[in-house]
Amino acid sequence: MKPALIIVDMVNEFVKGRLRSPQAEKIIPVIAKLVSRARECRVPVIHVVDRHLPFDHEFRVWGSHSLAGTWDSEIIDELKPGRDEYVFPKRFYSGFRDTGLDLALRDLGIDTLFVTGIHTHICVLHTVADAFYYGYKVFLVADGVAAFSDRDHSYALEYMKNVYGAELIDSSKAIELICGRG
Ligand code: ZN
Repeated sequence: MKPALIIVDMVNEFVKGRLRSPQAEKIIPVIAKLVSRARECRVPVIHVVDRHLPFDHEFRVWGSHSLAGTWDSEIIDELKPGRDEYVFPKRFYSGFRDTGLDLALRDLGIDTLFVTGIHTHICVLHTVADAFYYGYKVFLVADGVAAFSDRDHSYALEYMKNVYGAELIDSSKAIELICGRG
């Protein structure tokens, strides 16, 4: 297994802004712990973040949000990427769509993704769907993802497990697994 840690949309808009998840603050320390574990064993840490242009399709549904070049689309201070960590801006729900993420992961030899971030039922779900189509093994960190409501959150977790074969684990298990089994 060659893993990467994927962090979806931990930007000001979704943690502290208009489209925030009420649970977002809770997952920050969980993700931070995973980041430090990943750094210890040099597992790539990869952010995929909404950085929209003013005419993007999604605004029909959500209104304008997380525009490129604004505070809204900046990664929150608590999870600021380190020097050798990667940020892939996106304009769609999925972290794979038109971002070059798949190519980068292949160049790095990655075959397994530990997925965290927001929102469980939107950008996390679409990213996991594409990960499935591209053939990655996905560990979904259940206490490291959040949605608008518990209902959205639990439904999406079950859906990703049943439909995309994502393995649901908690963060303590993720910390145990992310550096490999020795
Ligand atoms: Zn968006």
